[in-house]
Amino acid sequence: DDLIEEDESPVRWFRANTLKTSKAKVLKEFSHLERVYNITDIKKGTIFYDEFIPNLFGVHPREKITTSDAYLKGRIIIQDRSSCFPAFILDPKPGVDKVIDACAAPGNKTTHLACILENSSRSVIAFEKDNQRARTLKKMCTIAGGLECISIQHADFTSTNPDDFPEITAMLVDPSCSGSGIFGRAYEENDTDNKENNPYNEERLDKLSNFQFAIVKHGMLFPNLRRLVYSTCSIYPQEDERVALRLLRDEDLKKRGWKLSNQNRVISKWPRRGEVEEFSNCSDPEACAGACIRSLPKVDGGIGFFAVLFERDPNMEAADS
Ligand code: SAM
Repeated sequence: DDLIEEDESPVRWFRANTLKTSKAKVLKEFSHLERVYNITDIKKGTIFYDEFIPNLFGVHPREKITTSDAYLKGRIIIQDRSSCFPAFILDPKPGVDKVIDACAAPGNKTTHLACILENSSRSVIAFEKDNQRARTLKKMCTIAGGLECISIQHADFTSTNPDDFPEITAMLVDPSCSGSGIFGRAYEENDTDNKENNPYNEERLDKLSNFQFAIVKHGMLFPNLRRLVYSTCSIYPQEDERVALRLLRDEDLKKRGWKLSNQNRVISKWPRRGEVEEFSNCSDPEACAGACIRSLPKVDGGIGFFAVLFERDPNMEAADS
């Protein structure tokens, strides 16, 4: 019963929804579980408080969480640890920042943003183009108690006019990807056994990365944007570092002052960074890779993931205008 199946996460992660509860209250609600202080000590009957993401807890995957009152009432939200990286890295400030979540459904990162923004009124605009998924997004935001802070737009983000949003200062772009970081979905290039379900298909990855580049570039054209996090649940560099590099090299974006951030501002103590060799033609490959964060499926305690923080130098804007 305690054995972890091949296609499941070694840890089930959930976040205290601070719109409704707190770390201390969650620990009290789950006080029937013994607190452990090392991720490797997680077994059935224990609870672990994460060292990287505030308000995040890990339990054994077989622990009954989805039937708990805390889950059913939205006091806790099940979300993989690395999927919590983007909103935490973006780090918007309550009462100061106005944020767009460009690809929002089902809304895990949207409600995380609302928590970080302390539910400040009308601080997040969440775009979702798919009808069914936009409904799920609304349901998730309602259960989380975030509708004061989050405004949901059932629309294609790329059809927005950036100049209509001068108030937006921060953005999260988590577009559709191959999902190769999710268990059982990662295949190697030469894996021909399961061709039909093999997401490693150069043509498909090309299409995905072109779309990912285009949607992030659109986001970078918002006139007063200062920070943007791009993320995927893919482990393939085509969708990760190579998209970041293409954005970094784009002449329009360079003129606007967009740069990769610095490891100090991207969960610096998390050990697994971007792939340095992907930035080998940059003047400081280590620094570029440091602005990226990666997690590998299972070995890093959850799904495979990639996130990178871009920042914009406001002085460049003056030079440009
Ligand atoms: N950020 C979400 C979360 O953490 O719960 C997961 C986002 S999922 C990886 C990508 C989502 O982007 C899908 O729901 C997809 O329908 C949506 N999407 C793709 N292209 C879009 C576009 N042009 N405008 C708005 N949403 C889009």
